[in-house]
Amino acid sequence: MITNQNFGEIPQSYLFSEVAERVRRFEAQHPEARVLRLGIGDVTRPLAPAVVDALHAAVDEQAVAASFQGYGPEAGYAFLREAIAAGEYAAIGVDVSPDEIFIGDGSKSDSANIQELFADTARVAVTDPVYPVYVDSNAMAGRLGTFDGERWSELTYLRCDDTNEYRPALPAEPVELVYLCSPNNPTGTTMSREDLTAWVAYAREAGAVILFDVAYRAFITGDDVPRSIYEIEGADEVAIEFGSFSKTAGFTGLRCSWTVVPQKLRRDGVSLNALWLRRQSTKFNGTPYIVQRAASATYSATGREQVRADVDYYLANARLIRSTLESAGVAAVGGEHSPYVWFRCPGGMDSWEFFDVLLAEAQIVGTPGVGFGPAGAGHFRLSAFNTSEATQEAAGRLAALLPRLAA
Ligand code: PLP
Repeated sequence: MITNQNFGEIPQSYLFSEVAERVRRFEAQHPEARVLRLGIGDVTRPLAPAVVDALHAAVDEQAVAASFQGYGPEAGYAFLREAIAAGEYAAIGVDVSPDEIFIGDGSKSDSANIQELFADTARVAVTDPVYPVYVDSNAMAGRLGTFDGERWSELTYLRCDDTNEYRPALPAEPVELVYLCSPNNPTGTTMSREDLTAWVAYAREAGAVILFDVAYRAFITGDDVPRSIYEIEGADEVAIEFGSFSKTAGFTGLRCSWTVVPQKLRRDGVSLNALWLRRQSTKFNGTPYIVQRAASATYSATGREQVRADVDYYLANARLIRSTLESAGVAAVGGEHSPYVWFRCPGGMDSWEFFDVLLAEAQIVGTPGVGFGPAGAGHFRLSAFNTSEATQEAAGRLAALLPRLAA
């Protein structure tokens, strides 16, 4: 056998292809229908003008020998690492130094690759439902045992639903790696300072490492919800954090992210910062110079204002989706500090049943919650990334449909 047998254990990720297939069939049968897509996890607003200007300027630099850039520094250009240290961390009173920040090409790759730093035998915990990349990347590495069609035998699932207010309980069994995401995809819920303090205390006690994903941190409004795990004292000895420009600034196509690996984070007498540098220097040749220049433009006064306006635009959509559901008697979470709204399907329907009803009766596409893990069964995700016009039209259709379903 020469192929990685762990791939054989992984179920086909059919969620988005199945969604696309059902929508294609519906549109073929109903060519007159105006289908509204509230399933998307991609942004729709174009890049901010400050970002586009920075891209143009950086392209011009590449045309001149004196300013041409080839391979860049392995962990990213100092100008961007410093801008992130100041703009994302010092700005919220957190001390993260540029040499603890690694520039990447997206939080998908960063959060999928980080598991390479850990032993094959490291026990993993994820919240359930969950962003599937954390699970599949560990399954490919052979850490999760066997899959029974619903669950992995060696993975610890931390259920999050309305019976525990979407707050994952601390693991009952010993675990070494814990993936947490706040604001959460898919539920849109956030972790409080109190929650994170308990997790940091747990990790310190258990020697576990927390892998904290803040891809949606720009959607947090106000000061009550932590924007970084390093707001919690002692987190720099137990946590790695992933940030991304994708949802903050529309970089889903450009690709730029960062990973914080604190200097104080050590296990088995080894610095994880040194391990990640070693891993990245071997397997990654950096995010393009022009993209790093574009990312740093989001921290200029104008850039900041422009990307904030785009996030506010999506947040207004999110609030409208949530309030429409609630007015129709469907309890929902998310949509406040997040572009996602999550709810139990009305009338006790399962995720795919509701998907079909929503498509047939309201021509709205959403995402079946069961695709995010066993605890997602019977749940549904709607996203705020469509245009304001499409979201308003969808809200009108939901308001007409939902009371009928709940009755
Ligand atoms: N983390 C979470 C929770 C996400 O939902 C996503 C994208 O949808 C990512 C990370 C990946 O983002 P990117 O690779 O575009 O930075």
